[in-house]
Parts: sequence; structure tokens; C-alpha cells
Amino acid sequence: MADYKEFLDSINRKLYHEGEWRWQEGEYTVTRSHQYTAPGCHNSCGILLYTKDGKLEKVEGDPLNPFNNGKLCMRCQNLAEAVNHPDRLKYPMKRVGEKPKGLKTWD
Ligand code: SF4
Repeated sequence: MADYKEFLDSINRKLYHEGEWRWQEGEYTVTRSHQYTAPGCHNSCGILLYTKDGKLEKVEGDPLNPFNNGKLCMRCQNLAEAVNHPDRLKYPMKRVGEKPKGLKTWD
């Protein structure tokens, strides 16, 4: 097992802008945040969101977050793809026409 103190000491805190929540990194705006990505996440890992021209381009785990120490599971690793997918529903949908008979969902 890795030495946790050694890991903490090895992090370049200046490089990861300790104490800041947003900074510029080349063409990217980097925002430090916490995330819950569906389905079923209850963890709120620390995440760095890289956006360019208002669009999420990539993500990284936040190595300064003591909960996940820079690691992300596949749900958050694929966040940019999910957010930018052309089939993603962005607005509530409204049914057109009558509700089909026998459908057991809410109105
Ligand atoms: S990395 Fe996984 S566990 Fe952590 S917040 Fe994202 S979805 Fe949840």
C-alpha cells in the first residue's frame, strides 16, 4: 500500500492552485468543485472542470481533495462526453397528445 503522507507531500500544491476555486490555465478556465454524477453517486468527489468558451472540455480529479485524492470513477471521467452529447436532454419535455392507455407513469 502506498504511503499516504508521502503522497500528500509529493503534491505540487502551487501547481494545483491551493486555496483558489477558479483560475486560467492556457486556453482553459479551471474550476474547482465537487460532483455527483448519475446514476447513484452519493460521494461528492473533488473535481477540476476545464472549460473553454463556456463548454466543458475535460475533467480531472482534484489531488488536493482529501476525500478522493485526485481519483475519479468512470462516471465523472466521462462527464464531458455526457454533458456535451447531442442526445442529452437539456430541457423538460412536454407530452404532445393524449397519454397512452395503460401507461403507468405519472402525468
Ligand atoms: S468520481 Fe464517481 S464517486 Fe466520485 S463524485 Fe464522481 S461519480 Fe461520484
